[in-house]
Amino acid sequence: MTLPYSDKFTIVDLNKANHQKGFEHGIEKGFGMKSFRKELSFNVPTRRAFVNITPDVEACLRESGIKEGIVLINAMHITASVFINDDESGLHHDYDIWLEKLAPHEPVSNYRHNVGEDNADAHMKRQIMGRETVVAITDGRLDFGTWEQIFYGEFDGRRRKRVLVKIIGA
Ligand code: ZN
Repeated sequence: MTLPYSDKFTIVDLNKANHQKGFEHGIEKGFGMKSFRKELSFNVPTRRAFVNITPDVEACLRESGIKEGIVLINAMHITASVFINDDESGLHHDYDIWLEKLAPHEPVSNYRHNVGEDNADAHMKRQIMGRETVVAITDGRLDFGTWEQIFYGEFDGRRRKRVLVKIIGA
């Protein structure tokens, strides 16, 4: 459930920035390197959810104008994940069952972390599914394998949370 994300983004010309800092050699000297940053916002109505954010990342890539480089996409919360896998509902159901076996939400009193909160399982689920993913950018496109898609994994939802998209390249 992607909400309209903020307009807060930046494009930095590293060539110009580094000349201002007085760098004279190496990659700092230029090649027209750019840096782009944007935050995506989510507020899923359930405790757990998987959201395909590939179109959001592709929109960031178009906005950046970067044709060759790397994009980093990371959850900005310690109870959510960003990962790459298949956009197949059966698999997502299987993930949910598997994660719930590894770290059941209840009984919440089984976790020492759950003092004044109930999300210890969400911290563990996020650790298994990962904090971030990185994708190569080639010729202005995400350089994916055939079935690869980018997902936001929510494990303690029903509140606003953020994902960072950082693109470096030229
Ligand atoms: Zn917690």
